[in-house]
Amino acid sequence: MKYALVTGGSRGIGRAVCLKMADLGYNVLINYVANQACAEQVQALVRGKGVEAETLRFDVGNGEEVDRVLGAWLADNPGKHVEVLVNNAGIRQDGLLMLMTSPEWQHVMDASAGGFFNVTRLIVRGMIRQKSGRIISIVSLSGLKGQLGQTNYSAAKAAVIGATKALAQEVGRKRITVNAVAPGLIRTEMIQGLREEEYLPLIPMNRFGEPEEVADLVGFLASPQASYISGQIISINGAQY
Ligand code: NDP
Repeated sequence: MKYALVTGGSRGIGRAVCLKMADLGYNVLINYVANQACAEQVQALVRGKGVEAETLRFDVGNGEEVDRVLGAWLADNPGKHVEVLVNNAGIRQDGLLMLMTSPEWQHVMDASAGGFFNVTRLIVRGMIRQKSGRIISIVSLSGLKGQLGQTNYSAAKAAVIGATKALAQEVGRKRITVNAVAPGLIRTEMIQGLREEEYLPLIPMNRFGEPEEVADLVGFLASPQASYISGQIISINGAQY
C-alpha cells in the first residue's frame, strides 16, 4: 500500500497537500502536533476521496518523539510503504535578531531543520529498501533571499535547502528524488495578521498565493512526470523573487 506522509497536514498548505496526495491515489498519513480536530477533518476529507487516511501526532522537532511515534507506526505497518514524504510542518516566531531569545531561535530551527532531519532520517531508510521515493520539503522565499525580522526562520529554511541538495546526491542512485518548494506569501493561518495591502506592492502578481497552488506543485514533484527532477528548489511566489 502506497502512503504519502505529510507533516503538519492538519492545516494550511499541509492540508491542501494531503488532499492533493489523495487525488493522486495515495493513502495519506496526516501528522499534526496540537490540532487533533483539524487533523480528523482532513482525514475525513481524504477518505471521502476513496483512499485510506490515518492521523499521527508527533512534534517533528522532537527527535525522541519522532523515533518513538513514527518509528512505532513504521514497525507496526511493514506493508505500508511511504512513497512520498512532504516535510511541511513549520512555525515562525519573528523578531529582530538583537532582541531574539534563545528559545525563539531554537523552536523555529527545531520545527523546520530539526523536523527535516528527524522525519526524513526514518523515512528514507524504507525508500532506500524499496529503491523509490519522493521527498519534498516546504521551505520559503525567506530561506532564499533572507528576510529581515526572520533570521531564525530564514536560517532554518536555508538549512533545509542545503540538506535537500546534499541528500539528493546521497540517494540519487536509489531512484529517490529530493526537492524543495519555496513559497512566497500564501494565504494560511501562518500569515494571519499580515495586512495584505501592505505586501501587495512587493508582489508583481498583486495577490497572495493559495495553499492549493502550492499543493499542485508538490503534486507535480510527486508525479511520474517529475522523475528526473532532483536536488532542486522550486519557487512559487507570484514573481516576488
Ligand atoms: P500553518 O500555520 O497554517 O500550519 C502549520 C502546520 O504545521 C499545522 O498543521 C501544524 O499542526 C503543523 N506544525 C507546526 N509545528 C509542528 C510541529 N512541531 N510538529 C508537527 N506539526 C507541526 O502554516 P502554513 O500552512 O502556512 O505553512 C506550512 C509550511 O509552509 C511551513 O513550513 C511554512 O514555514 C511554509 N511556508 C508558509 C508560507 C506562508 O506564507 N503561509 C510561505 C513560505 C513557506 P497543528 O495544526 O497541530 O498546529
